[in-house]
Amino acid sequence: MKLVDPFQRTISYLRLSVTDRCDFRCLYCMSENMQFLPKKDLLTLEELDILCTEFINLGIKKLRITGGEPLVRKDIMSFFGSIGRHLDSGKLEELTLTTNGSQLEKHADNLYLAGVRRVNISLDTLDEKKFAEITRWGRLPQVLRGIDAAQKAGLKVKINVVALKGFNEDELLKITSWCAERDMGLTFIEVMPMGDIGNENRLEQYWSLKDLWKTLASHYELTDLAESTGGPARYFKIEETGQKIGLITPLSHNFCESCNRVRVTCTGEIYTCLGQEGKSDLKTPLRSSDDRKVLQEAIQQAIGLKPKGHDFDYSRQTVEGKMTRNMSHTGG
Ligand code: SAM
Ligand code: SF4
Repeated sequence: MKLVDPFQRTISYLRLSVTDRCDFRCLYCMSENMQFLPKKDLLTLEELDILCTEFINLGIKKLRITGGEPLVRKDIMSFFGSIGRHLDSGKLEELTLTTNGSQLEKHADNLYLAGVRRVNISLDTLDEKKFAEITRWGRLPQVLRGIDAAQKAGLKVKINVVALKGFNEDELLKITSWCAERDMGLTFIEVMPMGDIGNENRLEQYWSLKDLWKTLASHYELTDLAESTGGPARYFKIEETGQKIGLITPLSHNFCESCNRVRVTCTGEIYTCLGQEGKSDLKTPLRSSDDRKVLQEAIQQAIGLKPKGHDFDYSRQTVEGKMTRNMSHTGG
């Protein structure tokens, strides 16, 4: 089975947000008094399992669990334990996770047992004070212990850094060499105009990755890598350290033509494009019938509506293409 959209792109990658809640309040992601969904609106873990299973039956090969903070959802490890069966059967090729790292010390071993082999951990600064400032509620030592635990458990770690003007520009080389020393991948993300974040100004936060690349290129020899994961990341290698660096540049580089992914929220909404408002409801077909064909048809119909691309644009010094939802809703 294959899921193919109207632009002949094969959809093989599902990102599932299992909760919109989080134990941090990152300045670029949420406002301090973020309103979360009523718990009764969330799909149960069993329902999320059914959803994923039908996506996998339709040809999804890679599943990334995200949020909010996925590891704060109650009993989430039972979900990982159960969904891992699709790895054993060979239907699913990869099960991964994006996390802020705060709960990893507790869960790293069980993630490995469930079949997870790689995790993306978000970390925007190595300075304790700045970390508390950017995450509002987070504490750096706890996350560093989480990273240690993940590596000890055998998980490959990639660090995700949101590039923020005037905030972590000065740490670019320090973070790069820290990741090289610890044998961790590194990806920089451009800040995207997602949701209401209170008084923060997106244009002031925006640090173009073209500038970041130029700074790195003035210190290291960089080689472009041709590989693509069907997403917005481009990769290059630092020859001196052998490190692979990713740049997620939805704003300064358009990636939509090779998009292979869709996103599902914890309430069962499917978003077929991160940068468009269009969504379809999968909760009703999931709950209305035990015949899973009904759900499969709803998934196929939603993918039939996948748009060609996003409209994000900061180039006219205004924020164009802004989304009303926060990144924590669809999980980035
Ligand atoms: N809580 C987990 C974490 O922080 O990794 C998973 C969910 S978080 C929404 C996923 C990723 O989106 C994180 O790397 C975060 O830094 C990034 N993110 C959140 N809001 C963003 C924004 N407005 N622009 C770009 N990246 C954003
Ligand atoms: Fe939470 Fe991740 Fe958003 Fe930070 S980026 S507030 S850790 S969901």
